[in-house]
Amino acid sequence: MPEIAVRMTKRNHNAFVHLLGALESQGFDLSELLITRDFREILQAKPKVVLYSFLTEEVWGPLTEEVKLLKERGALLIAGGYHAIAMPKHTLNRLGFDIAVIGEGEEVLYRLLTTLKKARYRITKELLNIRGLAFHLNGDFVFTGFARVEDFWRFPPYPESVRLISPIEISRGCPFGCYYCQTPYIKGFRMRHRPIDQIVRYSRRMRDMRYITPNAFAYGSPGAILRLDKLEALLKALQPLRKEGRRLFYGTFPSEVRPEFVLPETLELLVDYADNRRLAIGAQSGDDAMLKAMHRIHRVEHVQRAIEYMLEYGFEPVVDFIVGLPNETEESQEKSIELMKWVISKGGRVRAHYFMPLPGTPWARCKPSPLSDEMKRFLGRMAAKGKIEGSWGNQIELSRKLQRLIEEFYEEPMSHTVPVRSVC
Ligand code: SF4
Repeated sequence: MPEIAVRMTKRNHNAFVHLLGALESQGFDLSELLITRDFREILQAKPKVVLYSFLTEEVWGPLTEEVKLLKERGALLIAGGYHAIAMPKHTLNRLGFDIAVIGEGEEVLYRLLTTLKKARYRITKELLNIRGLAFHLNGDFVFTGFARVEDFWRFPPYPESVRLISPIEISRGCPFGCYYCQTPYIKGFRMRHRPIDQIVRYSRRMRDMRYITPNAFAYGSPGAILRLDKLEALLKALQPLRKEGRRLFYGTFPSEVRPEFVLPETLELLVDYADNRRLAIGAQSGDDAMLKAMHRIHRVEHVQRAIEYMLEYGFEPVVDFIVGLPNETEESQEKSIELMKWVISKGGRVRAHYFMPLPGTPWARCKPSPLSDEMKRFLGRMAAKGKIEGSWGNQIELSRKLQRLIEEFYEEPMSHTVPVRSVC
């Protein structure tokens, strides 16, 4: 029976597929692992170690019960993912995990598993030599430093010996630092990119070629500028695979593009080289003052310009908004309603989200604003007509839970580079 189990879920699938690829490429034999989405299978196998990866919003799900059952059976539990990085003490002390992986996991996970194996799956002082861990040793909380993987492309995006596939992470890190977002603090402010030859090689395994990146049009650049030559080189290099029958989806699920990168020249590339005729952008608010307050850098005019260009080139815009932002007034919400109406009148789709304070972000301790009656009526009416999608309704309750959690268990978050500055 395998001694180590990987608790896969729909949400952590992509992260684990990449980590399994990294483990395998460093010499770890994946046949030693039980990799499953079926928790009962893990219980039956009685593994010595179980790997988890989750977001903060998942801590109220089945996770607590699973941890309890596994702890009763004596398993050592390891947590990775955004919650463990932003709230390691909560992860260990409250959720009951034994080890939290802090940072980019490719190297640290390999070192952790091989060290644990040698120590018969006990926490020993050998773990102090591995950067990227938090755990208790002799009753003391220990943090060994943030694990960074500058050249993440040293590791393949998926394993060879196990039939698992996910969209390929082609870029990592983001320089924009939007105050509600965890990405820059966990993946760094400088964008790094997987080389084109690798992307082409690994894309062969996909029928629909899809990619993970914070901003698909920033491929090849440090992140804040457009490198059209590099973007074009990537898309061109994927054309032989399209000719073999694969479809190329770029700038749409599971990634998106920033509005100011939507230009005639980027859209022309998609028209020539990609199969999607939908493009996802984040507008977030219809009020320039709110965009400035959340450090989005772009303005409303960039969103409108992006949508006009998309329509001109035959793309259906999919536009994200966040409602209930900190210090958002009724007037700000009116401006967002106006922009949403305008998007819908142009044939675009709106996705509405309620503001959720995430640990490890500058806005972690900010309070959401209540939705005005006008906003509630508008969202309800448009959702009923199928013009707006998104789960803002459920997110209101989730947002309350997040606030209570952060108030009660606040801890200074770990960060890839700069400290996370609270701006509330
Ligand atoms: S929301 Fe997007 S653009 Fe803003 S920091 Fe996060 S990844 Fe970057």
